[in-house]
Amino acid sequence: MATRRDRFETERKIFIEHIRSLGLRQTGQRELIMKTFLSTEEHLTIEDLHRLVQKHDPTVGHTTVYRTLKLLTEAGLAREVRFGDNKTYFEHHYNHEHHDHMICTQCGRVIEFYSEAIENLQEKMAEKFNFRPTHHSLRMWGICVDCQAREAEVHTAPSGAQPRVRVRSAIRK
Ligand SMILES: [Zn+2]
Ligand SMILES: [Zn+2]
Ligand SMILES: [Zn+2]
Repeated sequence: MATRRDRFETERKIFIEHIRSLGLRQTGQRELIMKTFLSTEEHLTIEDLHRLVQKHDPTVGHTTVYRTLKLLTEAGLAREVRFGDNKTYFEHHYNHEHHDHMICTQCGRVIEFYSEAIENLQEKMAEKFNFRPTHHSLRMWGICVDCQAREAEVHTAPSGAQPRVRVRSAIRK
């Protein structure tokens, strides 16, 4: 199995080949943006990534982050996802299995999931309509387990009561 490090090196090579094919050189800022993006397993907006990158180098501008994300997307390392809040998020694309998303409308948490049964059902539906699907993105909006617990607390806690300790269930990010 390829280690994280191997995977990063492969992704880095793909990126550098892509920018070279456009007649560009790898710069220190592009390297930092690429590294930061590839080492964060999250769904990031340009602003999120900009904030992370600025922790290491405050001189990196928004436009450079935008352009580098665009290059990463063209190179097949990143892909755009939308969660219905009018923002564009980016996630890893290279060597990442297909998955769908559940989005908490209260805290914005995004849960990734994959269901063989749902995938098969979608294919069957497409067949039924003689539709040739190229790709899909299934998104479910709702309230995550933590926000449900928070809601329950607000509703059940008598006024002036001490905040109760609540059990956090571990859910897959
Ligand atoms: Zn799917
Ligand atoms: Zn939530
Ligand atoms: Zn995702």
